[in-house]
Amino acid sequence: MELFMPERVFFEPSSLNYPLGQELYDYFSNKNIEVIKTAPSNVSRLIPGETEREKYPRAKKTLVVAAKKSMKLDVCKPSADFQFSLVTNCPGNCEYCYLQTTQGYKPYLKTYVNLEEIFDSIKVHILKNDNKLTTFEAASSGDPLAIEHITGSLSKTIEFFGSLKNARLRFVTKFNNVGPLLQLKHNSHTRFRISINSRYVIKNFEHNTATFDERIEAASKIASDGYPIGFIVAPIMIYDGWKEEYSELFELLNQKIDTSKSVEPVTFELIQHRFTPIAKDFILKRFPNTKLDLDETKRILKWGKFGRFKYVYPKEHASELKEFFYSLIKDRFPAAVIDYFT
Ligand code: SF4
Repeated sequence: MELFMPERVFFEPSSLNYPLGQELYDYFSNKNIEVIKTAPSNVSRLIPGETEREKYPRAKKTLVVAAKKSMKLDVCKPSADFQFSLVTNCPGNCEYCYLQTTQGYKPYLKTYVNLEEIFDSIKVHILKNDNKLTTFEAASSGDPLAIEHITGSLSKTIEFFGSLKNARLRFVTKFNNVGPLLQLKHNSHTRFRISINSRYVIKNFEHNTATFDERIEAASKIASDGYPIGFIVAPIMIYDGWKEEYSELFELLNQKIDTSKSVEPVTFELIQHRFTPIAKDFILKRFPNTKLDLDETKRILKWGKFGRFKYVYPKEHASELKEFFYSLIKDRFPAAVIDYFT
């Protein structure tokens, strides 16, 4: 896919005190891109467009360069001990995106340039964990690979983790520009997870992300480079032909992914499609012609974090999905670990 380039970039003033902030300022100033040196407190206000439908795609082409202020990392159970961000949000336009709920009002990208301070805070959190093996998730709030060709931050972070004895990094992506990550000194300390889905889901709902074939190719390169690898299959959807399409996906993964280069087993995380009332509201404004199944009468309610509830498939469908995917994985990747099905 074509590499992302924003159409406008805001700089928070403190970001220019860091070498990467200055580098990015020089980089964008030499391009035909709107550069705003002093980001206002409410960036959303300056994004062109009248309606949500007009503003959303423009927000996804807006980048804010900032210095991360709070160095206290949030807990990220069960997938990791802590989470941190190099980037929030991403240039993708996935109709069902989980960020419609958590970052619904701020769908623009933000990247943090004070990497050394972020790295120091990671070391502090390892110490707080009694120096035990500590895992960190870098993709809870966005996709860190999507702008790697501009910032280079993910590569530096992978090598930083490669140098730490008692820490592991994990992140997930729907992008395929993995070139800069090959041949880094990752030391098997980073688990690279690809978010993958059937052709139907990727084509209809995951706009401006890598295609089905591009993601499998990217996963194949990363596995061949010895990274521990994982797949997040999400959101799993039920539609006409879902079994055939998901079977094709696992058949291709089996053919193209060489799992012998990594010392760690392949992992799978399986997440059924769900939506919250807040997300549904944003989705219908931003994608009025969506083909997503958002019919509450066909779902059951499930309570989530922070008192939010979501609509998930009824139990009999969920059991059918679980059985089907467990059997596919057992057949195609018998040594794999299934982290969870939810
Ligand atoms: S790639 Fe991930 S973060 Fe970006 S829009 Fe899609 S689901 Fe959301």
